[in-house]
Formats: sequence, structure tokens, C-alpha cells
Amino acid sequence: MNHLPPARRSRVLHRSSRTLPPRAIGGHGAWLVEEGGREVLDASGGAAVSCLGHQHPRVVAAVQRQAGQLCYAHTSFFTTEAAEALAEELVGHEPGGLAQAYVVSGGSEAVEAALKLARQYFVETGEPQRSRIIARRQSYHGNTLGALAAGGNAWRRAPYAPLLSDAFSHVSPAFAYREQRPEEDEAAFTARLAAELEAEFQRLGPRTVAAFIAEPVVGATAGCVPAPAGYFRAVREICDRHGALLILDEVMSGMGRTGTLHAWEQEGIAPDLQAIAKGLGGGYQPIGAVLVSGRIVDAVERGSGAFQHGHTYLAHAVACAAALEVQRVIREERLLDTVVAMGERLERRLVERFGNHHHVGDIRGRGLFRAIELVADRGGKTPFDPAHRLHARIKAEAFARGLACYPGGGTIDGQRGDHVLLAPPYIVRPVEIDLIVDRLGEAVDAAIAGLP
Ligand code: PLP
Repeated sequence: MNHLPPARRSRVLHRSSRTLPPRAIGGHGAWLVEEGGREVLDASGGAAVSCLGHQHPRVVAAVQRQAGQLCYAHTSFFTTEAAEALAEELVGHEPGGLAQAYVVSGGSEAVEAALKLARQYFVETGEPQRSRIIARRQSYHGNTLGALAAGGNAWRRAPYAPLLSDAFSHVSPAFAYREQRPEEDEAAFTARLAAELEAEFQRLGPRTVAAFIAEPVVGATAGCVPAPAGYFRAVREICDRHGALLILDEVMSGMGRTGTLHAWEQEGIAPDLQAIAKGLGGGYQPIGAVLVSGRIVDAVERGSGAFQHGHTYLAHAVACAAALEVQRVIREERLLDTVVAMGERLERRLVERFGNHHHVGDIRGRGLFRAIELVADRGGKTPFDPAHRLHARIKAEAFARGLACYPGGGTIDGQRGDHVLLAPPYIVRPVEIDLIVDRLGEAVDAAIAGLP
């Protein structure tokens, strides 16, 4: 990082106003190339985006083909071959009853559209009193105001709290390492969470609730946290019993990342609305989508006839062409099998390296979506002092060793814990998995050794 005042070095308003990131000038497979030629192993695909790695020749060619033919046609006049083919690829066989795809430009847009579709569904079907959304603390659904209101991440919400709708309320996360009580087994933990959700429906009035929204495997705020067995079946049952919709946010965990195309496939349920984004286009174009169940499609068709929403770049032709090719590569090259195999290797190597580490309290995740949680004291699960920003130190130490990983410091009911999230591309090679764990191990030890 260059520590000169960035205003003197860049006209881009970067994430940090204090540091200027190095320039990325190229990439190949799981690697990014910096100006000057240094190669960085992309162990998290940015933020779980680059599922096919960088510069995949088939996707680059598809983007070029589409750009050469037609870049943009406004959706109020036209559809395109690319949009139709992508939607067919995504929901052509109606997985779990999901019948149509609404294609947007990213994850937050997908979540916003899902929330609005849920609300419109009840306006169309004669239940306009349903306006409440229940979400979970310690979840991240995006940074636009609706998505931010749904999210439970305290520090992201705090500065914007006056702008966030009070239609949203939050229940406990399904986070075994932090929330499961010593006297509870998994079934008892699941039952307690289900009872809490049921109580929230009752508190609000069950017929005022439009939807419950959750990430099947929590990504950015907590680091790859799957729910305990049976949790999503219980949630589905509660939503159904009260006539509310289930929105699953698979922006990070979806499109193969956890070893099945959709993470919900491992839970034995299906959502009414599903947001997808990162692994949809793999970073080759900005794209996201809402997958919409037939029942909602039918209600809108029988009612007003139009989803009262829209963006200029809906179903952008080049973005659709890129995502279509990404999804075809995943399917044709059977990359879900690779995710499972490489995911097992990653888990095994993480357990070997950190299983007895004094400061690694938990190793968790599914497929190529794994995280470690750092603790000052394993027995007491005591987090490090948040003022030390250990996760940022690990990121810096890893980057210095040529490894890009995705760290975070989630807030758990006011208690902050540090984690590091790994989400390498589905084409990652075994030797690269080993390198990721070796470099991460060195980075963790160096960061902890450097604490004041
Ligand atoms: N939902 C989840 C689960 C995410 O992880 C993210 C981004 O990290 C979003 C929504 C927002 O997506 P985007 O950053 O593309 O707007």
C-alpha cells in the first residue's frame, strides 16, 4: 500500500481515503498480476466472486462476441438472445419451483428487487397489511438502503440508521460456534432458534409479515457459517404456516460455491425468492438476479401485470452473455465436483494447520467457502481486542506474502470476533490450495506476533 495522501495520487474515491491500493494489471487462473509483475494468489476471488478465476478464455470470448454484436437494448423495448438464454439456463428446469429470473447488475440490487417483489406479491394477492420483513442479526444483504435495513451488521448500519426503514426486525443468527449453549445439542439449538422466529411472528402479528430473509451460509459478516441441521426446514415450515415468503440471499453462497449449485439444495427446502450475484457472472461483468417462484410470477401476472420496479441496465446483454458462459462452463466441466473435492482438501489442510492452533477457535464452511475464526483464548472463545483489528493485520500480512484473502470482524451482539474467509476459484489446483493454507498460516502467526 502506498501511504502518500491519495488525493494527490488518484481521482478515484477509493474504499479507504488514506491508502491507495496497488494496480492490478492482469490475471490468469487463480492469480492476479500487479503493476511491476508480482503475482498474488486470489484465495477469496475478491469477495467470493471469481468462481472461474481470471481471464477464462471461454468467458472472455463470449464477452467479446456479445460486445461485437450488441451491447445494450433497453428492456422496455426489447429482450435479447443473451438474456433469454441466461434465464433458461438458470430456471429452465424450474429448480425448486423457481420459474423466472429478474436480471440486475449486482447483489444489493437483487436483494432490493426480492424485497420489493415480496411486498408486491401481497399487494397483488389482497394482503396489503403484510409489510414486515424479519431478518437475522449478523447477516449482510448489501449496502443499498433496503438491503442495509435487512442486514444485521451493526457497524455498517450505524451511520445510516436514521435512513433505514423500521419495517425490518432481526432475530438471532444460526451461528453454532457463538450462539449454541453448552447444554444444547444441535437439535435443541435449532428448536430454540425456531421458537424465537415463531415468537417474532407472534410479536409482529403473523399476518403483517411479508417475508423472512436469510443467507443459507452466512458470508461476509461472520465468515462462512452454515446453519445447524434442520434449521431451514423449521424456518420454511414457520413461513408456510403463517403465509409469509422465504427469501434466500445466495449472493455469496450461491452458484456452486458450497458444492451444490444452490446452497439451499443441502437444506431440503426451496425459497420463494432467491438473490444471486457473485458467482453468477464470476466478475466478468457486473450482474445479479432474483430467481422468482412460479406462484409469485402467477400472482403478478393475474394482478397488475408488471413488477413495479426497474433499472436502466436490467438484463444487460454483455453481462448476460458473460454469466451464461460462466454457468455453462460450470455445468459442462462438472466444476461442482471440483468444488466438493477441492473443498475437502481445503478443509483438511486448514484442520492440519490450525486444528491445534491456540488462537483459532473455529474452522467452518462448505465446499470452497471456508473460514477460520481467531480468538485470544480458545477455551473461553474470547475475541481479540477489536481495537487491534487483527483481521486487517492478517490481510496485510497475507498480501505481503502474495495471498489475497477476505478477512472480517463481525459484531456478535456487541462482541467482536475476527475471521478470515477463503473462497478460491472452482478451477483452483491442489498445489494452490496448499499454498493458500501455508501462506495464511504464516500470515496469522506474524499478525498475532505483531500485536501490541
Ligand atoms: N448479499 C450478500 C449475502 C452479500 O455477500 C453481498 C455482498 O457481499 C450482497 C448481498 C451485496 O452484493 P453487492 O456487493 O454486489 O451489491
